[in-house]
Amino acid sequence: MRIFDPHIHMTSRTTDDYERMAAAGVRALVEPAFWLGQPRTSVGSFVDYFDSLIGWEPFRASQFGIRHHCTIALNPKEANDPRCREVLDVLPRYLLKDGVVAVGEIGYDSMTPAEDEVFAHQLALAAQHDLPALVHTPHRDKARGTLRTLDVVKESGIDPGRVVVDHLNEVTVGDVAGSGCWMGFSIYPETKMSPERMVAILAEYGPARMLVNSAADWGRSDPLLTLRTAEAMLDAGLSLDDVDRVLWRNPVEFYGQSGRLDLVGVDADEVQVGQTFEGNSILRGGS
Ligand SMILES: [Zn+2]
Repeated sequence: MRIFDPHIHMTSRTTDDYERMAAAGVRALVEPAFWLGQPRTSVGSFVDYFDSLIGWEPFRASQFGIRHHCTIALNPKEANDPRCREVLDVLPRYLLKDGVVAVGEIGYDSMTPAEDEVFAHQLALAAQHDLPALVHTPHRDKARGTLRTLDVVKESGIDPGRVVVDHLNEVTVGDVAGSGCWMGFSIYPETKMSPERMVAILAEYGPARMLVNSAADWGRSDPLLTLRTAEAMLDAGLSLDDVDRVLWRNPVEFYGQSGRLDLVGVDADEVQVGQTFEGNSILRGGS
């Protein structure tokens, strides 16, 4: 089984996680730029973070045979901090880089006027750079936030087939399905969305335009929930071809629209579970 995790925050994960993901069949991933928990007070903190998303993390992933890509943006939460507004000025230079396959995460956190402005600005940047967009939906007031998100996407004029609206659930999936946007689901250990609930949604809506991710980050999360969802799909009688479509071909199709996915040499079927990477220097930490 080959897995492409289309939304995972490896910056917050350990090297052991990379090792477990590789053993579970994860061969490629996309790491969206997001809120790191600690508020950033200057544009320099973002520049260093973006540089690590196109430099250090791809290197770390490569030690385990995993192809790393990223999305770049000013996240919705920090869009509200005037000290971070200058980040918008540095985005265009990152949106030209090879490993950057979308603008994201953008969208709403608390649905403030500042978030409106920054969201619309970044959708325009995505269109100008001919890149897809990864849109986060708020964890509070999700139904209203999702409808407002779809309105803003529509007003922007961007092709909905180049937008994924993420962190959906049973309440919000129908509206996004009808919009033509891609549907993203973050599978969590306890809350929000489980592998079994995801299978029920797939059974109802089918596999088209569906993306399943672990969204693993610095909170309680599990980078192997993509594999657990694949297993739940098979247990429920869905086919291996469905699994491959949702967990590999769909993310390849969506992010492939950037023209920058680099999967050459990621021969998913030939990588064996538990293999070692002889000849590569496994990371030994910062010492
Ligand atoms: Zn995220």
